[in-house]
Amino acid sequence: MSKNLIERLNKGPVICAEGFLFEIERRGYMSSGEFVPMVSLEHPEALETLHKDFQHAGSDIVEAFTYNGHRGPKPNLMAGNISNSNIWNDKDKKTHLQVEKMFNEMIGWAVDEGADMLIGETYYYAEEAFKALEVMKKTKLPTVVTIAPMAEDKMRDGYGIVETCKELEQRGADVVGMNCFRGPATMLPYLKKIKKQVKCHVGALPIPVRTNKKHTTWFNLPDRKDCACPAPHGRTFPTALEPLLCNRYEIGKFAKDAYKMGVNYLGVCCLGNPMLVREIAHAVGLTVPASKYREKMENHFMYGKGIPKHMKNYGNKA
Ligand SMILES: [Zn+2]
Repeated sequence: MSKNLIERLNKGPVICAEGFLFEIERRGYMSSGEFVPMVSLEHPEALETLHKDFQHAGSDIVEAFTYNGHRGPKPNLMAGNISNSNIWNDKDKKTHLQVEKMFNEMIGWAVDEGADMLIGETYYYAEEAFKALEVMKKTKLPTVVTIAPMAEDKMRDGYGIVETCKELEQRGADVVGMNCFRGPATMLPYLKKIKKQVKCHVGALPIPVRTNKKHTTWFNLPDRKDCACPAPHGRTFPTALEPLLCNRYEIGKFAKDAYKMGVNYLGVCCLGNPMLVREIAHAVGLTVPASKYREKMENHFMYGKGIPKHMKNYGNKA
């Protein structure tokens, strides 16, 4: 299989598992809110296991700093990664220089590690995405840039969502699209528009959360305020979104719909897990190592086939 991202995308779907921070937090190796990935120093084996789990579930892409120890079952693409800095301020040019320096340094590391491609992601400032692309382009490696507009439905520096993707293509990004903050329902309509406006490949990595028209990102889902459970609801980072998670069928449908639209770069972002990655693989017609363990209801003790009558009948009352 080719090690060139664009060749792979021209032939069919490429799957990218994201959301490592959240899954590592869920597994007990990181503080929510803080999200400093100390895990790579304190528990590298936990990170490596997660990488393996995602590859097992069908992810074609592995990120740079944990790649060396474990080549997956098929030739995977190794990606360097720069994401939103959270220090970029459109009104303070000094921060632009700071961010550029940071991007240069991180991309330098990725190139040293032998990255096959570069990912810039989760930008909510258009100009920061442009800067990331500019830095990544200097390496001549294939580039993926995905944006994460907040609930204003535009970039924080005023650019439109589709406009930003068009501009990224103009400036030479190989793949443009969206990741994070939005679930399938509030990302898909934009993907449709983006797909119509660009000629390059489009990427789609939603969070598996039931965002809706009124509440387009996970930051403002009202359920968290009205809920009677003991979680800390209100204007804080979501740590209690479980009741609003998309199930495997919803993520499968999203992947199918996006793929039908011509979106070949597919994945899930934060709150994703290997089972959902496998679901995406299946939705676009791929068989992956984890396919072996997909649902086998025919073997269920009560709802399966060839089950003794006294158990089968009990299924309605269970
Ligand atoms: Zn994310």
